[in-house]
Amino acid sequence: MEVRVRYAPSPTGMQHIGGVRTALFNYLFARANGGKFILRLEDTDRTRYGEEYVQNLFDTLAWLGIEWDEGPDKGGPYGPYVQSERFALYKKHADELVEKGQAYYCFCDAERLERIRTIQTMNKMPPGYDRSCRHLTAEEIKANIDAGKPYVIRLKVPLEGVTRFHDALLGDIEWKNEDINPDPVLLKSDGFPTYHLANIVDDHFMKITHVMRAQEWIPSTPLHVLMYRAFGWEPPQFCHLPMVMGQDGQKLSKRHGATSVNEFRARGYIPEALINYVSMLGCSYEDGRDLYSLADFEKLFKIEHLNKAPAVFDYKKLEWFNGQYMRLMSDEALYRATLPFLTGTGDAAIPVNATEQFPAPKVGPDVSGVSLDENGAPIAEGLTSAQTKEKLLQLMPLIKERLHFLCDAAEMVRFLFTEPAVPPIDQIVPKKLDAAKTKEVLEASIDFIQAIPSLDHEAAEELARKTAENLGIKLGDFMMPIRMAVTGSRVSPPLMGSIAILGADRAVERTRKTLELFK
Ligand code: GLU
Repeated sequence: MEVRVRYAPSPTGMQHIGGVRTALFNYLFARANGGKFILRLEDTDRTRYGEEYVQNLFDTLAWLGIEWDEGPDKGGPYGPYVQSERFALYKKHADELVEKGQAYYCFCDAERLERIRTIQTMNKMPPGYDRSCRHLTAEEIKANIDAGKPYVIRLKVPLEGVTRFHDALLGDIEWKNEDINPDPVLLKSDGFPTYHLANIVDDHFMKITHVMRAQEWIPSTPLHVLMYRAFGWEPPQFCHLPMVMGQDGQKLSKRHGATSVNEFRARGYIPEALINYVSMLGCSYEDGRDLYSLADFEKLFKIEHLNKAPAVFDYKKLEWFNGQYMRLMSDEALYRATLPFLTGTGDAAIPVNATEQFPAPKVGPDVSGVSLDENGAPIAEGLTSAQTKEKLLQLMPLIKERLHFLCDAAEMVRFLFTEPAVPPIDQIVPKKLDAAKTKEVLEASIDFIQAIPSLDHEAAEELARKTAENLGIKLGDFMMPIRMAVTGSRVSPPLMGSIAILGADRAVERTRKTLELFK
């Protein structure tokens, strides 16, 4: 039997880590088993529906490189794959359950349901429908319908007994039927299906073999099993995925940091890092490697690799992956990936929910000094776009080691394309030196800077060490004032390389300007 799995999001919000993990695991399971991965839009909740969320779903999966075999845009043998285009099917099947005596019409209006709720709350009883319409006679039903009374269709949940199902990860799970939602609505009075009805009708007709979804859906599963039975259908295999928690053991949420994939994109995470990290959230692989590509996971994924325990989302670990993947990029690829962050375009233009804990990344031409010309090529003041690109390419190997996120590049390239303001004197003087000594350092650095372009890296380091020694100071205290003078910042790419790319003349000029402060 061919494996068929689906990712079935409701377009009521931006794609977040949890959803993407569900999508990924389904996708990987399909690929690992030569099966099909189906994308289905569960858009029955029209009040929370947003067109932008549908777009975001497509964008996010495309960005991650997760491809589906059947889906809204692609079609397939069991389409349409959008629930709002399948309403007639759900109604037909709700009616079928009524005919079979497995579901019933309920004419209770909102007012009555509200009254039941109030009484239940007052008596500290569990909430739920009191099943009064379950016992209407055929005549009463006919009279209500003839009178044009609106109705919903409810499932007849067995009053006693238990419902069991097997979860591929968690094993056998059983629920007392008395603990299942008393007679949930399948079809609403406006003819819209509820999630439960549409979800299982679709899983059945789309021939889904395995339902892999978050553990928060477990309480719905006994109900779904009852519905499959009521229809006389074979339920799929269920596999409920471990939860994703923050470091504090609470369900991962905005409080912990970025959760929507958009935010990760806008902060300069790269898809390979996210794929690698998220595929290991609650899933471990035999060979204990750290770095896996999507193609690796497509071969290796197994349900047996899933953990039962919740996964803890570790932002630092994801950051580590991000760094690793950026270091693996060629200079040209890194240049292309960072350019949007230098110019504030593309991914870098996606709005982020900045908080104090997670401030908005600093990106854009006012940070980097690089903008795009009318042909989409990088351009900086006083340079042609070819020169700008050349300088950026030269700089890539230097900044590669220091990037945590693509957005970090904006500040790191700035010194090349803008004249930094001369920093205040107290920022230039190292803690261990005084102003007089710092002045000496800067004076001595002029010769040093001028020598750099003709020296290789080792010789330049040796010269720096010697000069520091002659001044009787540590190497760090020698470099720091020069770094401040040349780049205007304490954090810059490696100094010697930076000077070589900037040009000794400009570096000396900046140093002289800074020296004026000490006169
Ligand atoms: N539409 C549901 C969601 O938004 C799907 C749950 C399921 O996979 O059954 O997560």
